[in-house]
Amino acid sequence: MSEAQSIQWFPGHMTRTKRQIEKYLKQVDAVAEIVDARIPVSSRNPDLNRLIQNKPRIILLNKSDMADAVATKEWIAYYKQKNVKAIPVDCKSGKGMNAFQPTVKEVLALQIEAWKRKGMIGRTIRVMVVGVPNVGKSSLINKLSHGSHAAVEDRPGVTRANQWFPIGKGFDLLDTPGVLWPKFEDKIVGEHLAFTGAVKDDVVDTESLAARLLEILCSLYPDAVRARYRLEGTDFTDLAGWQVLELIGKKRGMLIPGGEIDTERASIMLLDEFRAGKIGKITLERTGGKV
Ligand code: GDP
Repeated sequence: MSEAQSIQWFPGHMTRTKRQIEKYLKQVDAVAEIVDARIPVSSRNPDLNRLIQNKPRIILLNKSDMADAVATKEWIAYYKQKNVKAIPVDCKSGKGMNAFQPTVKEVLALQIEAWKRKGMIGRTIRVMVVGVPNVGKSSLINKLSHGSHAAVEDRPGVTRANQWFPIGKGFDLLDTPGVLWPKFEDKIVGEHLAFTGAVKDDVVDTESLAARLLEILCSLYPDAVRARYRLEGTDFTDLAGWQVLELIGKKRGMLIPGGEIDTERASIMLLDEFRAGKIGKITLERTGGKV
């Protein structure tokens, strides 16, 4: 990772954010953590577990429309083993979001019973939504509150003011107070975030990124790459990422004057297509594996 990138991504808000989260945790009953279902490890803030401690929690595996359904099921089972309830959602279309309120109530069942015994029937349930930039927090709140949230920002790292959002009778959401950063300093984490578009393209070398992504895709989802780029019959075993990139550029007729393959254009196209889910439903991080 370049120095410029580190500076851009570490603006020193973390201490303030941590303090804010600690403060607001006292006002909420549960935490809903959103992760990107394609990269459930890299799209987390490394300090979050310690920050939220024993607060009841649910995990939302968002962007599940673009993730491998088998892998998403594995992640749900993985969290279940750890006594954490996780559900797949697609905050863009709204798919899976009906399960949000019932799941929170399930996680808070004992608490809700205790409120009832104390005569606090219908007490408002308050949930803090947390997640790293670009994971889909605005989209979630927007969908659940039927559009009362500010416009979704497509730029990573845009800070918003703290706000409460009623999402139904007796149910309020609180947007993340501050910005929770992922673990950018880890090379693989940084790379996975860049593949998914959570890091701005102008701070990474597009061609190396595309070649690296292809290496991973050719190993994890070779058939999806072959089908998308009409490379049926191609054996990727001994090919480096940049060689596959050239094959793809050639197939798509991306040439520069003189006949050379325009690998820059091919790279941009590949990353765009991956981020739009066009290569297939792909999960880069599996349970049990290293990130
Ligand atoms: P935030 O920074 O966590 O608030 O993330 P946003 O809600 O602004 O979402 C970042 C980008 O991801 C936007 O372009 C959204 O349209 C997109 N997005 C969010 N959720 C989903 C989803 O479930 N599926 C897909 N395909 N895109 C999503």
